[in-house]
This record gives sequence, C-alpha cells and structure tokens, in this order.
Amino acid sequence: MDEKLITVTSPLMPSLEDLNVYLKDIWQRKWLTNNGHYHQELEKALCEYLGVPFISLFTNGTLPLITALQALRVTGEVITTPFSFVATTHSLWWNGIKPVFVDIDPETCNLDPDKIEAAITPHTTAIMPVHVYGRPCDTERIQAVADKYGLKVIYDAAHAFGVKVNGESVLNAGDMSTLSFHATKVYSTIEGGALVMKDEQTKRRIDYLKNFGFAGETTVVAPGINSKMDEVRAAYGLLNLKQVDRAIAGRQHVAEKYRSALRGVPGIRIMEDVPGVRHNYAYFPVFVDAEQYGMSRDELYFKMKEHNVLGRRYFYPLISTFSTYRGLESARPDNLPVATRIAEQVICLPMYYGLTDEDVERIINLIV
Ligand SMILES: *Cc1c(COP(=O)(O)O)cnc(C)c1O
Repeated sequence: MDEKLITVTSPLMPSLEDLNVYLKDIWQRKWLTNNGHYHQELEKALCEYLGVPFISLFTNGTLPLITALQALRVTGEVITTPFSFVATTHSLWWNGIKPVFVDIDPETCNLDPDKIEAAITPHTTAIMPVHVYGRPCDTERIQAVADKYGLKVIYDAAHAFGVKVNGESVLNAGDMSTLSFHATKVYSTIEGGALVMKDEQTKRRIDYLKNFGFAGETTVVAPGINSKMDEVRAAYGLLNLKQVDRAIAGRQHVAEKYRSALRGVPGIRIMEDVPGVRHNYAYFPVFVDAEQYGMSRDELYFKMKEHNVLGRRYFYPLISTFSTYRGLESARPDNLPVATRIAEQVICLPMYYGLTDEDVERIINLIV
C-alpha cells in the first residue's frame, strides 16, 4: 500500500526551540516538581483561558477522577455512563464504589437525564456523567436530579477542554470536573490532567490529596496519592496553551469539510454544532446505519484501514461489557439499548490540527 498512513489523531506539540528556552530555565532553577514555578504559572494561565475559578494540575486524567471521589467522600453507588473511556468507571472501582450504568441519549451520546432517577437507590451518592466528544451534557437537568436526591456530581470532562455554553465554561457545572491532557487530546502536556473546583478550600484539599495528604512539613491530613505534575510538563503545557486556539480553529475547518461532504449521505449520521456552544472539535464521530448505508461500521473501519486510514471505534466495546463490570445488573444490554446500538455504529474519523485538505478528501472518498 503506497498511500500515506493517516492516523486518527496527531499530537499538538510546541516548537523544540521554544521548549528549550523553558528547559534551560528549569535546569537553572533546579526545582523539578512540587508546585514549582511552571506548575503555578500553568494553573494561573489555565484558569484564565478556561474561565474557571480554581484548578489543580495532575499527572494524568485518571487520577483527578479518583481523587475527586476521595475528596467528596463518595461511597456506595454512583450513576454513570457505559459510553466512555474505561477510566471513568475504573475510578469508581478504585474507590470501592459500585458503578450503576444508565443509558445514553442517542442524539448527544451523553447520559440520558430522563433515565437517571429510576436508577437511584438508597446507596446512591453521586452522578458521574461524561461530556462525550466535548458535547455538553444537559447539566441543568442533571443538577436538578442531583439536588432533589442530595447527590454529588463529578463530570469527566476529559473531552471538554475549552468548551463553553453561552460564554460560560462547561467545567463549572457540578461539584467538580476533571480534564485529561493526554497526548491524544485537544490540549496536551504529553501525559497530564487537572481537576476544576469552585472554591479555595476544595482546591487546598485537592492539593494535599495529590501530594500524599501533606498539609505541611510534618502534617498528613488524609491518605493522599502522588499525582503532581512536574515542571517539564507544565512548561510544555504553557507553550501548547499559546497555540490551542489555532489548533481548535484548524479542527473546526476539518469538521466543516467532513460535514459538507457527509451531510445527507444515506445511512451516515453526523453531529452538528449546538447553537450557543463553543465547541473544541475534539472528535469527529459518524454513526453508520448498516442497512441504509449498505455496509456495517466494522466493514467501513476495515475498508479505511486497508487504504491506510485509521478510524477509531470510540467508544467500542462499551465499558459495561468488560469482565470487571459485565456481571453487574445495570450492565445488561437490555438496560442499555441505546448505548449498545451506538457502540456498534460509531466510528471516529481522523481529526487533528494539521490534517490537510487532501487528507480529508481521501478520507471522504472512502466513505461517500
Ligand atoms: C482520556 C480520557 C480519560 C483518561 O485520561 P488519561 O489522561 O489518559 O488518564 C478519562 N476519561 C475520558 C472520557 C477520556 O477520554
């Protein structure tokens, strides 16, 4: 196959020259981690860019989920979605919490707010929704259910970097929101993540928890973990933040090309922008109706692969089908008909800043 390989994603990276300037400074400071200069600068810059009051940086996007559950003392059962990356549910497992899967809305692929109430039991203490593909959940309705039953809400916002609804960051919804800065995400620090919170006391507590629970030289206030972002990654992140708007604009251009070519293709459903939402174009999912399209999702996936174009069946398989979770009552496919169908239909097309118009043409020609 002589066609150039097109991967599903490609990392946003700062220039080596710019990074070297920061690296030289870090080498001179000889302060490599533990809330260093770049760590503090990145927290400040992210609060400003994202429009959030407080943020705490982490080494990845999974530990903020685990830590938020610890900080809010969530126990018992938590209502969540099977249509996510496994880390969402794993964070519950690592806290000894039983996940209770609730089906998704077919239009948004997010937790269906109408189905949450029926899954609440006396053991339910929280809801953990995911802004899938960066599309905002119905945060108002989720909050209404949470308030009615006295539940915490922790959003896995790993996909929702920079997403705003009517000018307000979607990260301000619920009790806390988590971000992932993994290399495959819209904004990255190679590996990294963060927890967004609403008040200073919570920020302080999270900062203790990500540093073994140390509240001072000799005081340990909780069984904390080690999840501090180091100076090199924070510096890398500061540089990437300067180009993330350009990257999002580039992604939007790709999304618009895909949409104008795929809109109306029989058996192919795409997602349109939501009015009032500032999207980040993190992913470009298409949903294949095998009967109408004349080819199944998997057939399309392997056809693209044969032509050196890598899509990603994201999310497939559903979390609820993995051995850890499939024995749960709520994991039964008849409890999750929409998620089960969507997981069989979805394929995310290559999407990243730097994908050329010719690349996009080649991908479109494999589909239409
Ligand atoms: C990427 C991702 C995570 C995990 O983030 P890491 O930084 O890889 O640990 C969690 N949830 C969702 C929905 C993700 O996409």
